[in-house]
Order: sequence, then structure tokens, then C-alpha cells
Amino acid sequence: MARLDPHSYTESSQPLAKHVALTLYFDFAARTIHGSALLTLPAAYTGPLLLDTRSLLIHSVLDPHTTAPIPFSLPSDPTPDPVLGQPLSLSLSAQSAALVVFSTSPTSSALQWLSPAQTASKAHPFVYTQCQSIHARSLFPSQDTPAARIVFSARLNLPHPLTAVMAAARAAAPRDPVPGEVGFACPDALWCAPGRSVEEFIMNRPIPPYLFAFAAGDIAARDVGLRTRVHAEGGAAVLDAAAREFAGAEEMIRAGEALFGPYEWGRFDLLVLPPSFPYGGMENPMMVFLTPTVIKGDASGAQVVAHELAHSWTGNLITNKTNEHFWLNEGFTTYAERRIVEVVQGEEIAALNMGIGWRGLNDEMERFKDNMEFTKLKPNLEGIDPDEIYSQVPYEKGFQFLWRIERQVGRPTFDEFLKKYIAKFKFQSIDTEAFLEFLKANLPGIENQIDLKQWVEGTGIPPDAMEPVSLIYSKIVSLSNEFKLGKIPKEQEVANWSGQEWELYIENLPKSVEPSQIAALDAHYRLSESRDYEVKVAFLQLAISSGCKEYFGEVERTLKQVGRMKYLRPLYTALVQGSAEETKMSARRIFAEARDTYHPIAQGVVESILAKHS
Ligand SMILES: [Zn+2]
Repeated sequence: MARLDPHSYTESSQPLAKHVALTLYFDFAARTIHGSALLTLPAAYTGPLLLDTRSLLIHSVLDPHTTAPIPFSLPSDPTPDPVLGQPLSLSLSAQSAALVVFSTSPTSSALQWLSPAQTASKAHPFVYTQCQSIHARSLFPSQDTPAARIVFSARLNLPHPLTAVMAAARAAAPRDPVPGEVGFACPDALWCAPGRSVEEFIMNRPIPPYLFAFAAGDIAARDVGLRTRVHAEGGAAVLDAAAREFAGAEEMIRAGEALFGPYEWGRFDLLVLPPSFPYGGMENPMMVFLTPTVIKGDASGAQVVAHELAHSWTGNLITNKTNEHFWLNEGFTTYAERRIVEVVQGEEIAALNMGIGWRGLNDEMERFKDNMEFTKLKPNLEGIDPDEIYSQVPYEKGFQFLWRIERQVGRPTFDEFLKKYIAKFKFQSIDTEAFLEFLKANLPGIENQIDLKQWVEGTGIPPDAMEPVSLIYSKIVSLSNEFKLGKIPKEQEVANWSGQEWELYIENLPKSVEPSQIAALDAHYRLSESRDYEVKVAFLQLAISSGCKEYFGEVERTLKQVGRMKYLRPLYTALVQGSAEETKMSARRIFAEARDTYHPIAQGVVESILAKHS
């Protein structure tokens, strides 16, 4: 017996389910889903089958053909493993399918349930999923490892007038429930009660479980391109802004296809979520999930969209086998994102993004200075919660590695290599070794030109990594350096700056400066009030670490407005690292007051930041 993945109970000796049919009844009042999952194996199998679960109530397991019970067990110790959850063990005898009947719980970490008051419309409740990294198991029992790709169908039962969207194709128009179709998920009387409707979806391309995604609520939609529709909760105003911001999506898809080969997923829709969404974007196939903070009014949110789109090739088509190889998803995607940005926004903007990434990578070296394992491209994550060590390392060190190879072999050769790599491994889950083998086979001699072992297994930033070179980038860095001498940039120097320039400028300033200098900079450029959260948060982080008390009110407002972890992490960290006890206390108070508005994944991350500094 050997586990396939340090983050899953899935056993390598057991068969992997190929298809899952889900039936889900949504109870918004109880913040619970009553469901059944019909798992189909490639062939009849006799023996134990381990599935991952967390925060699930398992009611029964049945043979779908005979409805005879299938014996199952959960560990006798009811305390779940803090990272993995609990294994559900089925005992199959010459069976090729099992129907697991279960309920989620209000603490299921994949789900955020929002009350009407927590939505933009204020009129209806809302629920959405976030399954990466290992949260699918809190939604349905599964072999929750990216090594196990599945196709699925899903039947959702919702109260009027709510509608659902899924990272999947719609199989039929919403309709009334039909008696007998519920498949044990809940009593027929509940399924067919007045005021309920059923929506059906299908995903017929094999995906890793972390890409399973849906949202349900008062969701409206608008077409913005041939293959792209924007969906949003929050009414016409949000939809208008989103449609404007993402008008360039089709151009990006075409740029991606020219670089990496055909777009294999049919549609590329976008869902703008409420502000509590914990990430910038999530690359759910056919429908990317986005934070509303990417809508900045100047199309600069395009970079996040480019990133999620790039995942259509790197991450969703070729997937890391386990989270220890996460760089295969994110390093490649960061590289691909910047290539797309270069085509649609130009070389200078791409270089700015690289510069922001370079700064971020250097900051992570500081964060992990006592735990350099997590600065490796391929770290050992046994017993480690992937959410807790989530960092820029797989993104930016991975990007640097691929950029280094590009510089060695030249762009045309590397582009050809990338296309070949994608064509070879599409719809597969692979590890770093498979990549290296393919690299050495297709770019012969590369191992004599680049120290591949140091890049993949070494800690820190390799000496042949490179800071980007561009006119704007160098100018900004030199202006940041002048700030240390007491100089604030002149108006004509920043006249053409958008959010990214400001972000880079602030991030290159020293981590702590004279409070009077902070105030002077803000008096001039109103960075604390920027509509661009990247700028605002970078500024507020600097203000807290410099001890500027007058910005604490704005910090609190920001922490209560958005739940994106990219902002929560630095702001809470800066607060708890503050020298004054009062600052630390305010972090705890703000979290206590804002906790309910955060997604469970974000709640866990902030809790661990606070615990580390208690
Ligand atoms: Zn990504």
C-alpha cells in the first residue's frame, strides 16, 4: 500500500474512478447540501477503496444496480487529520460503481455560504465553491488528488429564483424537478417541493477534482465575445463594469492559441464573485472565477484574466500530479500569462509584471528564511497544508526557470518546445521528473548548460535567475531608491503611471520608512484611497510597518471590504508584526469582526497568521 499523493488517502494499488455523477440538493437555510455521488470505476473490482472526505456526513453507500448496501467504514477516532480529513473506506466485491449518499456541513471548507446581506444585491443568498488545493473532499467523497482525473455530470436542485453556473457545459435548460430522479440524495418530497428547480451540467473532458466548481445565487450574464460570457452577482452595474473590463478576452484567447495550440475547452466564461472570494482568480475550466477587485476600470485586470486563461493550457490541460509539483501549474502559467500580456499589452507591461514578480519572489525568501524547504521548486509537503505555505515561489521561481531555459535555447526553439510539451501531455497529470525527461529529450544537452538540479531541488534563488530589464522598470526602481533620500517622484514622472507602476514603486521602497515621508507621499498621490487594491494594499502595508497610526482606519475598512488572501495576508501580517501591543490587538479585533465575511480557506489562513504571533 502506498499513497499516490501526500495530500490524499488515495492508494496507488486501488483503481481510480473515471466518472462521477452528482445529485445535489441545496438547503440555503441550513447551509447544507444533501447529495449523492455515483462513482464509476474502469472495471469491476473487489477490495477496499479509499476516498477522501472532510466535514462530510456519510449516510449510506449503495450498489447503484441492486441498491444493496456496500459496507463502508470511517476511522474509529472521530478527530479528522488536520490536513487530510478522514478516509472513507468502501468494501467492494466485483463491483464497478458505488453510490455514496452524504451531506455537507456548514463548515465544509470548499463552500462559502453568503447571507443576502453579504451579497451585492442584498436580496438573495449566494453560495460558491473553491476546491483548490484539497477542498473538493469537503464537497463530495472523492479521490481528491490531481493525479486522478474525472469526467462528471451534475444535477443541482435550487430554490426559486436562484440560478446556478458551473465550470462545465450546461446540459439542459432549468426545469421542474421530476419524481424518482433524486437518486437517494434526499427524500423525493423535498426534491419535488414547490418552488424548486433543477439544473444539469456535464464536463466530458477529464479534470482533476480541484477544478470542480459551481456558484448559485442571483446571477446575471452578458456576452462579451464569441466564446466569452461574463456572469456576476450584483446586478447591472457590476455586469457593465465587468463587460468593459474583460472586452479583450477573445483577443487573448487567440493570442494564447497562437502561442500554445488550440483552446480545448470550448467556452471561456468569466464569473465575477462577491468580494469575499479568497483568490484573484481561479482557473475553473470553461468558467474562470474572479474577485471583483480585478475590475479596476482601466482594463488592467487583464493580467489576472490572462493568467487564468493561460491555465487552460498549463494546469488544466497538463496538471501537476501532486501539490509538490505545483510549479508545473503555476510556473508555466505565469510564463504563459506574460507571453499573452506581451502580445496584447506590449513588452513594457510584460516587463513590469515580471518586475513585480521578481520583487515578490525576493520577499518570499525573507518569509521562508527559517524554512528554506518552501523556497524549493519541488518541496517536500508531507504533513503540510498547501494553503498554509501558498506562496509566490512556484509562480515566480517557476517562471524564472522557464525564462532561463528560453534565454538558453532562444525563443523560437523554446516556443516549439512548449507546443510539443502541451500536445504530448494534454489531459494528463505529470510530475517534475516527467517534465525534465521530456526537456532533456527535446532540448539535447540542456542539462550541461543549465544546472537543472539546482533549479528544481535547490533552495533560494539560483544565481542565473534574472531581474527583468526594461526602461520603465529601471526608471521606477531608481525613483524608489531616490525616495530613501527623501525625494518624492515629480508629477511629470508619474503622469503615465497606472496601478502596476505604482505597485512596483511601492514594493521597491524600504520595508519601513519615516512616517512623515509616508504621509507626504500620500498627501501628493492619495495612494491610500486608490481604487486599485494592489496599490492601496501595498501602500497600507508600508504604512503599518512604518508605524503610521493615521492609516489604521483605512486598513480596517479594507480588511472588512475584501476577502482576497493576497490582501489579507500582508495586512494582517504587518499588523501582528507591529511593535505596539495595540496594533497586534487590533488585528485580533478586526478578524473577530470580519471573520464571517471571509471564505473558510481565508479564515484558516488568517488564523494561522495570528497564531504564529500570539
Ligand atoms: Zn494560477
